[in-house]
Amino acid sequence: MEHIDDRQIKADDRQYVLHSWTRQKDVHPKIIRKANGIFFWDEAGRKFYDMCSQLVYLNVGHHHPKLMEEFKHIGEIPLASPGFATASKAELAKKIIEVAPENMAKVFFANGGADSNDHAVKIARMFTGRYKIFSRYRSYHGATFGAGNLSGESRRFTVEPGLPGFIKFETPYLYRETVHFDSEEAAADFYLERLNNQILYEGPDTIAAIFMETIPGSNGVLIPPKGYMEGVRELCTKYGILMICDEVMAGFGRTGKMFAVEHFDIKPDIMTFAKGVTCGYSPLGGVIVSREIADYFDDHVLMTGLTYSGHTVSTQIGCATLDIYKEEHLVEHAAEMGEVLADRLEQLKRFASVGDVRCIGLFAAVELVKDKATKEPLIAYGMDYGKDKAGLMSKFVGLLMAHGFYTYSHESSVMIAPPLIITADELNEAMDLFEQALTDFEKLYLF
Ligand code: PLP
Repeated sequence: MEHIDDRQIKADDRQYVLHSWTRQKDVHPKIIRKANGIFFWDEAGRKFYDMCSQLVYLNVGHHHPKLMEEFKHIGEIPLASPGFATASKAELAKKIIEVAPENMAKVFFANGGADSNDHAVKIARMFTGRYKIFSRYRSYHGATFGAGNLSGESRRFTVEPGLPGFIKFETPYLYRETVHFDSEEAAADFYLERLNNQILYEGPDTIAAIFMETIPGSNGVLIPPKGYMEGVRELCTKYGILMICDEVMAGFGRTGKMFAVEHFDIKPDIMTFAKGVTCGYSPLGGVIVSREIADYFDDHVLMTGLTYSGHTVSTQIGCATLDIYKEEHLVEHAAEMGEVLADRLEQLKRFASVGDVRCIGLFAAVELVKDKATKEPLIAYGMDYGKDKAGLMSKFVGLLMAHGFYTYSHESSVMIAPPLIITADELNEAMDLFEQALTDFEKLYLF
């Protein structure tokens, strides 16, 4: 592409591009001029630690040499529509099944996270002959009409009034739970009993699937209490409901396991993925189904499809990406670095505005409050996505940027999810910047 100067890029962007989830007049985007590993540089030459891997997808980091090399070989495998077999599609499906839980058998490829979730809903309905789908408040499953209906946080208001048959239940969120529990197991029992009741009220025979982010990400890395996921699995088995785990954000090493489901003693019936499968170097998502579901479609028509299902370029990049996870031991490394991060997060608790910290692998959130005793959140529920522009969270994220720490927030939680290649030194440097920004923030705006 010919060189276009920065002023022209910004002018054309303002004139021609619609940006997501925001008032357009609030958009003042930077340009990424250069990027390498966990760092990128803007048009003014300022360096940033990419502490959210763009949108939690760049697990292998920016400008990975193996992927840059792979792009030189694009086109060697001919483009082919979904009905053809291609080396990259077959190979990637095989590689995914090899690292997925042992009951998983086949992959349907989609373009990204949301449409993967849409297809998972359709597959569950076809397989069970039932129509209701349970999903949770405080979840995000994507912005298409189907995934928007699955989502349980404020972004779902954009698809309301919602589709019939999409039922919401509560995500365990112990920091903000008003009931006191003596143990995580007791908390799990509490939520499971309520879920069981809701299943009975809705009629178990009408429910096709319970759809959950294995660990809700953007909504603040809400790690389930011990026994909860196993309990949901039991309820699903008892009532013939499919358990679907959305691994779009938590999958591919983010939590220190290849898939987040491995933290629990469960085998879901369906898993969805996107982001980390190609680390965003080319768009790709998909649905992984169990042996039982795969076999069902031997004799029944899979009534769904996409022009780019199994796209040759994306699956080729996916194959190279999966090799990188293995060659660089990224999953094990994420688990190790997760301990360094957890330690730094614990230290943040000395700040008056830090209400809670949650971390699993390199998947973490810092929840800020105006008052530790009352837990009053920094911003009220539903006030993000363009509505909090003058508000405290925007100010804090701005301060982080000013210190060279790039990330995003949701409600009162700040996401920390750097590329899995980050070293302990880099992690500590970045967390030093976070602490400096937090010190400034408290002084300037809070206490
Ligand atoms: N599911 C989860 C858990 C996500 O975090 C996201 C996006 O952040 C999606 C689905 C939607 O993915 P996409 O934006 O690729 O459609």
